[in-house]
Amino acid sequence: MGINLKSSEAQFALRLIQDGSKLARGIRAATSIRSRVKPDHSPVTLADMGIQALAGALLEQYLPDAVLVAEEDTDFLKTPEGAEDLGKTTAYVHSFFPQANSGKIRQWIDRGQGKPAGSFWTLDPIDGTKGFLRGGQYAIALALIQNGKVELAALGCPELELQGHKGLGKGVGIFAARGQGCWAVSLDGLKESQSWVRLEVSKCREARQARMLDSFDPGHKNAEKNRLIYKALGILKDPVPIDSMAKHAVIASGDAEIFFRTLPRKEPDYREKIWDVAAGALAIEEAGGRVTDLEGRELDFGAGLTLARNPGLLATNGFLHEAVLEVFRRIPRA
Ligand code: AMP
Ligand code: MG
Repeated sequence: MGINLKSSEAQFALRLIQDGSKLARGIRAATSIRSRVKPDHSPVTLADMGIQALAGALLEQYLPDAVLVAEEDTDFLKTPEGAEDLGKTTAYVHSFFPQANSGKIRQWIDRGQGKPAGSFWTLDPIDGTKGFLRGGQYAIALALIQNGKVELAALGCPELELQGHKGLGKGVGIFAARGQGCWAVSLDGLKESQSWVRLEVSKCREARQARMLDSFDPGHKNAEKNRLIYKALGILKDPVPIDSMAKHAVIASGDAEIFFRTLPRKEPDYREKIWDVAAGALAIEEAGGRVTDLEGRELDFGAGLTLARNPGLLATNGFLHEAVLEVFRRIPRA
């Protein structure tokens, strides 16, 4: 393992993906998971709330001065209808932090309301909540951003098995640091430093042979345009749908070569939230791949809560990046 795991930053990140994965697995093992729909129409569960609370609690312990920009807030938990969820979230977090009570839970979650400027952490407590609900893939995604660049990334993918690293089993943690590579470990073996494996992207240089990944959600892309792109690339295998930044982990590990996110026809101005991209982008880059917007521009994480200057996303093993950009240029904007 080439990254110093003893720093407070690394300890915080690793504890969060480890404890967060345990919490998420515990909730998903419960007989029925309830979700509610947020004002932006996306679903949220007790796991989203619980993991963001864990992040606040762990920051208090490891990095008391750090800024956190995270997806969830406590607006609902503060209402009378939210009291039951607040109680349940407190119970889940209590098994990790015995001092948890409803006041602390709200405070820990609200720690995520930091402003994205200078040096800050960004967290999607459950990226792919729909996958989590469906029994598919989801990821706990944490990244440290400094001056618009991702410096450290941690992904917890409790349901993921890497085909090239089956020895890690199901449930992998991924850790990347700028200039120091991308590494994976079994989520159950995080404490044994010898069990880390270095991830490298695939060496595939032929677009036709590429293994492509896709978002499950029809609302997160322009499906019609995607089909034109697949045709122009001549890919032989159908794209495999996977929820969340588990996609990025799969590309970093060499099990697939291409993922892109075109802009939905109904939402041509949609811009990615920083927490939906940051951790996965550094993981792929540190594994030797490339991540840009649809026009080939580097991602700028210093533009606020969204990637305001970067339309869409293209993530590849690097070797195929230019070929895909070339196809984007040939296919007009939908
Ligand atoms: P997916 O690749 O479908 O698993 O998407 C993962 C994340 O991307 C989720 O957190 C979504 O909220 C977000 N996302 C991507 N595109 C959109 C969009 N057009 N509208 C809303 N959310 C989106
Ligand atoms: Mg997300």
